[in-house]
Amino acid sequence: MINTHQGTKQLDPWMLSLWGTLYQINPKYFPKGPDVVIPRDELIDQPKYRIVYHKQETLEPALMVESDIIERASEMSPGKLSKDKSKPDCFLKMTKNEVLTKAGSTKDVRHFEFQFVSSSIKYEVGDVVELLPSQDSSAVDAFIERCDLDPESFITVHPRETESNGSFGEVITHVPIKLKTFVELTMDVTSASPRRYFSEVMSFYATAEHEKARLQYFASPEGRDDLYNYNQKERRSVLEVLEDFPSVQMPFEWLVQLVPALKPRAFSISSSPLAYPAQVHLTVSVVSWMTPYKRPRKGLCSTWLASLTPEQGVNIPVWFHKSSLPAPPQSVPLILVGPGTGCAPFRGFIAERAVQAERAVQAETSPTAPVMLFFGSRNGHRFFIPRLLGVPCKRRRC
Ligand SMILES: Cc1cc2nc3c(=O)[nH]c(=O)nc-3n(C[C@H](O)[C@H](O)[C@H](O)COP(=O)(O)OP(=O)(O)OC[C@H]3O[C@@H](n4cnc5c(N)ncnc54)[C@H](O)[C@@H]3O)c2cc1C
Repeated sequence: MINTHQGTKQLDPWMLSLWGTLYQINPKYFPKGPDVVIPRDELIDQPKYRIVYHKQETLEPALMVESDIIERASEMSPGKLSKDKSKPDCFLKMTKNEVLTKAGSTKDVRHFEFQFVSSSIKYEVGDVVELLPSQDSSAVDAFIERCDLDPESFITVHPRETESNGSFGEVITHVPIKLKTFVELTMDVTSASPRRYFSEVMSFYATAEHEKARLQYFASPEGRDDLYNYNQKERRSVLEVLEDFPSVQMPFEWLVQLVPALKPRAFSISSSPLAYPAQVHLTVSVVSWMTPYKRPRKGLCSTWLASLTPEQGVNIPVWFHKSSLPAPPQSVPLILVGPGTGCAPFRGFIAERAVQAERAVQAETSPTAPVMLFFGSRNGHRFFIPRLLGVPCKRRRC
């Protein structure tokens, strides 16, 4: 078994030698090596992005469509929102938010229903929807204030690489976006923990000696485990880290590059389009846990969804994907097994089969094959399976 501490101490020298060799072989593809090998004196003027600030009166108000704004922010973000496309497929609006677990349960599992906002997307039972969560707006404001940024300014973000390639003119055609909107849509300042290089760059900008020393220790191979305990294990957000080191004032270019990207979360669709046309249902476990230092933490997306009400009318940007679970023909008997794991897509399969069975009876065609669901729950009394499935079923407890 590898000792973690020894492992991390050995990793850095190995990485340095690997990247040094790669750089010698092909400096074009490995221009700077890994984050850890950038020499300190080069650091200050080496962020990979350049921010251009624009005068507000030069902007075109006609372009302010919600999906365009998301696409624009994503295109300029170092971590693109979605691997293949930046523009959402459509927007969903919540119509129902129901708690499935009973009071006193250790888990909070929700049944959400959504309707399409304008155009609807055809999906199949078992498909997956990716959803971009919003961040706590007061925390975003606090981040902007902490970093001394103007939330109302309009910006475009440009990779420096393209400037040196002479293609800078092409990139600048991006339509500017409000700084606050860019932060909200692309930079996870409230949930994800920053990586080690963040500490290294922070140490460069720390003006208080004790903060600089601490950050330099975190960035060193010796401090790696302590950084892991401080950052990842405690799940400290970027905002919390910045607040712990008040003397650090990082340029926005560095923040754009180093703050973890806000990522969409995937959910198995738990409805059948046959049973609920033009609706999307999700079955979501609201994530919460306690860190080793007993700090309560919450999952960003599931907590945000649980906090929404239909009355708020929030438009949620979504992307649809095919799943690895193809819709089975209705003549095939199904055995669905979810022992303590999610059973969201199973709900959709069962609802679809129920409609197919009803139609087969009405049309007097051959009957549909039966479905068996094996489901595991921590507490049978607190998780009510018929409520989860939304269809009548015979229940047997083991
Ligand atoms: C294809 C696919 C389908 C999915 N379908 C569903 C679904 O139908 N229903 C559903 O509820 N989820 C589903 N998920 C999971 C979902 O995408 C999210 O990961 C989940 O909702 C948590 O997101 P979050 O933003 O709330 O939490 P985040 O802010 O992303 O936090 C989650 C992270 O918190 C940390 N964490 C969580 N618990 C603990 C703990 N006890 N101790 C320490 N760290 C912890 C982990 O690092 C974890 O990565 C699916 C995922 C995939 C990839």
